[in-house]
Amino acid sequence: MIIRLPEKFAYNQKNAYAYVINGILYIEGNVNFEKIMYEITYTLKGKEKCLYCKNPITSKTRTIDHMNPRTYGGPSIPNNLLPCCKKCNSDKSNMTADQFRQWLKLETQSEKDEFSDKCIRKNFNTFRKKRYLIPKKWLTRYNISKIGKFIWFDANVGKAKYKKISEYYEKWHRYPAPIILSKNDWVLEGKCILQHAKRNGIKYVDALILENVIVKKNSK
Ligand SMILES: [Zn+2]
Repeated sequence: MIIRLPEKFAYNQKNAYAYVINGILYIEGNVNFEKIMYEITYTLKGKEKCLYCKNPITSKTRTIDHMNPRTYGGPSIPNNLLPCCKKCNSDKSNMTADQFRQWLKLETQSEKDEFSDKCIRKNFNTFRKKRYLIPKKWLTRYNISKIGKFIWFDANVGKAKYKKISEYYEKWHRYPAPIILSKNDWVLEGKCILQHAKRNGIKYVDALILENVIVKKNSK
C-alpha cells in the first residue's frame, strides 16, 4: 500500500533520519517509526485544530487519533491518523472516525451513549470474526520466510510485549495487529509478532507493505 506523504519532509534525531524525496520516504538509522508517522501526519493535516470538533488545540490538549481504532488493528500510518483534541479522542473511544462524526451530531447524552455502545459492540464483533477494522486492500498475507537479513530483530524486542503477543496468540490463534514492512522488507512495526511467528513455525502473517517507504542499509 501507499502511505500519504507530504511533498517535503525532513526529520532527524541523534543518528536517525527520515526524509521524503520524489514521493518516497527514506528512513536511516534507528528511527522511532511511530514518531515519524506522527510528525508526517502533523505536516499533512496540521496541528492547530481538532479535525473532529474543529476547536483549536494547544500542545497541552493535542493528541493523535487512530481513525480505525488501534485496539482493532488500526495502524499508526498517516492514512489512519488524525490530529484531534484530548476530549474528542477520549469520547471517540473504540468507534471509527466515521462513527464518531455521526456521534458528534447527536444531541442528547443518552442518544450518544446508546450509539457509541452499539458501534463499539459492532466493531468488536467484526474484529472477533478475524477481521481488522481497516480496508482489506491495505493487507497482504505475507510469507515470513521472505524476510531476509534486512530486519531488526532480537535486541529491540521487549520481553513483556513478546509475552503479551504470545498470550494473545494462544487465546485467539491470531495476532492483534498486522505487521508493518518497508518496501525492502524491514520490519517497521510488529517485531514481537514476527519473532513469535518464527519461533512457532507460523508461516503467514497479515502485513501492511509500505510501497513508498525504503529503509537504508546503515540502520540498526
Ligand atoms: Zn475535538
